[in-house]
Amino acid sequence: MVLIVVTGMPGAGSSTVIEEALKLKGEEESIVFKSMNYGDVMYETALENGLVANRDGLRTLPGEKQREIQMQACKKISKMSESMNPIVDTHCTVKTPLGYLPGLPEHVLRELKPDQFVLIEATAEEIAARRQKDKTRERDAEAERSIEEHQFMNRVMSMAYACLTGASVKIIENHDGALDKAAEEFFVLMNRLSESEPQEQNHKISRETFS
Ligand code: AMP
Ligand code: MG
Repeated sequence: MVLIVVTGMPGAGSSTVIEEALKLKGEEESIVFKSMNYGDVMYETALENGLVANRDGLRTLPGEKQREIQMQACKKISKMSESMNPIVDTHCTVKTPLGYLPGLPEHVLRELKPDQFVLIEATAEEIAARRQKDKTRERDAEAERSIEEHQFMNRVMSMAYACLTGASVKIIENHDGALDKAAEEFFVLMNRLSESEPQEQNHKISRETFS
């Protein structure tokens, strides 16, 4: 089993890059990867507990509640991961009223055991403009300096996660008009990781995604 954690701040396009990469088909395919979204699982968990009205309400819940739901979601993801190679779409840090909440604190890392971290990045200007355009979400309007700070914190945090797990951190840039390039880069990385895994019969990188 190979577990890839993909992170990117809201507007960086991590979910889009994963989706596009899973559509690519190459000759070297040898393993099935499926993407799962940590936010979806947290949202389902919070809904079951009657805590939020939408997924963007999660990051303003009391810190203790966020940590509780984070761990419950981690256990669910870990269970779902038993029979597949998951790409976990999540965040290095979540900006909350109390400051930066680690998306993958040590107890979560211990349960998930990631093999690889991927950081999807764009410029602060691109991220601010994408957030303004996205009417499907309640993205926070944030000054470019604050977006830069958040992205810096994500880099720092991802190296801390790398130290705790031994997994590497790959940065992929997802600039406007260059989604294909970012998806290709991620696709190549998936293939490399699958090459280092013992092959099971008839495995192919699939387009399947689920939340
Ligand atoms: P997304 O759709 O990826 O932006 O995720 C929706 C929300 O889920 C985020 O705004 C966070 O509140 C929450 N979330 C996602 N991943 C994590 C995580 N690893 N730890 C804590 N909260 C998370
Ligand atoms: Mg996303």
